Amino acid sequence: MKVRFDNSYLALPERFYSRVSPEPVASPEVVRVNTSLAEQLGFDPDWLDSPEGAEFAVGNRVLDGSEPIATVYGGHQFGNWAGRLGDGRALLLGEVIDRDGQRFDVQLKGSGRTPYSRRGDGRAPLGPVLREYLVSEAMAALGIPTTRSLVAATTGESVRRETILPGGVLVRVAKSHIRIGTFEWFASRGDTDAVELLAEHVVARHYPKLEGGSVVDLLRAVAERQARLVAQWMLVGFIHGVMNTDNMLLSGETIDYGPCAFMNAYDPSTVFSSIDRHGRYAYGNQPKIAQWNLSRLAQALLASTERDEAIVSQAQDVVDAFPQMFQDAWAAGMAQKLGLSEVREEDWALFTDLLELMYVDESDYTLTFVRLTELVEPRFDSELSALPDAFGPWVERWQARRDDDAATLPEQAELMVRANPVFIPRNHLVEEALDAAVGEGDFSRFHQLVEVLADPYAYDASHSEFALPPGPDEQVHVTFCG
Ligand code: AMP
Ligand code: MG
Ligand code: MG
Repeated sequence: MKVRFDNSYLALPERFYSRVSPEPVASPEVVRVNTSLAEQLGFDPDWLDSPEGAEFAVGNRVLDGSEPIATVYGGHQFGNWAGRLGDGRALLLGEVIDRDGQRFDVQLKGSGRTPYSRRGDGRAPLGPVLREYLVSEAMAALGIPTTRSLVAATTGESVRRETILPGGVLVRVAKSHIRIGTFEWFASRGDTDAVELLAEHVVARHYPKLEGGSVVDLLRAVAERQARLVAQWMLVGFIHGVMNTDNMLLSGETIDYGPCAFMNAYDPSTVFSSIDRHGRYAYGNQPKIAQWNLSRLAQALLASTERDEAIVSQAQDVVDAFPQMFQDAWAAGMAQKLGLSEVREEDWALFTDLLELMYVDESDYTLTFVRLTELVEPRFDSELSALPDAFGPWVERWQARRDDDAATLPEQAELMVRANPVFIPRNHLVEEALDAAVGEGDFSRFHQLVEVLADPYAYDASHSEFALPPGPDEQVHVTFCG
């Protein structure tokens, strides 16, 4: 099996990473191969699904051209500077160029100890590996920038957490793994050369149009991508759960599917993560936290500009503009969810009144938009289609607004069908699939869920159970980090 690696991160100085050999495991087996992603990246999916592919997926076999490294980064965790973190249970195998010429990192997560493991074992339990596979691929299908999952494998070994669990490894793919925390690490050391080199690397790799520009141009471009990303999260009810600065990528992709979850009933204070005791990363706080993280990036980037006052004030302007960038992206998305071709000033009241109704009624967020779509483009059985009576007056206002919109009725229906997913990785479905896989070795539900979530907008009556919110005794209230 030949894959062409092209490892540009290795051209950075050696203080950016440590060369590490993966620690072999006893008896690896592949759980799932992402066939279309494999083909995109030039991997033979049949080979990946073979015993040799399993050896590759857990790090027992290092391919020609792959030069495994663990990268260094720092970060703010729950608002506090955490110092050096780094890839403690991940290994960057190298970079590959896909069939469209786009560069991707190929990384193992759970492949053993590295110089950044601290007291950790460098391993991952199978449950979190499958969870990341499910949710990251669901996000990709929803059209949200995200790291991807190429292979999920079992190691045949156990890992010790509160209990003894089967081990797993995820082969993760990302445009890069460069985090706000990567910049912060070098800035915290006063290593302005490293900050500059990293900024150049990021511009060349993710923002080539900015070549020759200033750090403020980079900051603004990152801000715009983050604003769009967080708007997309909010529009599908996604709660990241651990928006530490080491979990925010310069590429604008979502990373770290630890305690993340999708909201059921609409409530901005929703928190699932067991470690988020004060709700810092609650659903409704996400835009504010993204802005806070952006100011950490601004600070780190400015470490290398010798405190030029004009640049400092331009950077501040970018950070201050973030809420508007977010609101614009969110409103544009909300308009689509409601079948509108544009956002008008008065639409804000329409949007926020709908959210208020959902909040008071404790309506399921996703299902509400499915039901609104139903009023424009009927597709469903009665189980999914009834909108609460309390929404009546609002629906009339919305109807009047749509009558006045430039989009025709079929165009409105199309906008809505494309913006309102029916299938999302609801916690109770994910937990059920993982319990069967990890507890009983039955992966059928996991595979079925991956397949349903691959087509989130297409309603299929035979899968309607996957579209419903949890019943009263199916609720999963808490999620845990792997
Ligand atoms: P996370 O909470 O996943 O964002 O990880 C925060 C830091 O803890 C990173 O530096 C990880 O590499 C490290 N870490 C998490 N789990 C482990 C583990 N099992 N072994 C070693 N390091 C870990
Ligand atoms: Mg992380
Ligand atoms: Mg994590």
